[in-house]
Amino acid sequence: MKPEKAKKYLEQRGLACLFCGSWDIEGGSMDFDAGEIAQRISCHKCDERWTDVYKLVAVADPDSGATIASISIQAE
Ligand SMILES: [Zn+2]
Repeated sequence: MKPEKAKKYLEQRGLACLFCGSWDIEGGSMDFDAGEIAQRISCHKCDERWTDVYKLVAVADPDSGATIASISIQAE
């Protein structure tokens, strides 16, 4: 996987296939860790697979749903 493609994928918020650009992608099983979730993603068009990594970046008020605190994370 080329870093430029991965960067573009992140900039597009993971909506299209990392390899062929198709929007026909599907999220699979998830691994939960402290402040982080890894999810298997697959493309129905080109059959490539990869893993999306989600980080905990904000916490919201349980009643209003409004964000109480958040941090920003730079792509590595
Ligand atoms: Zn694809």
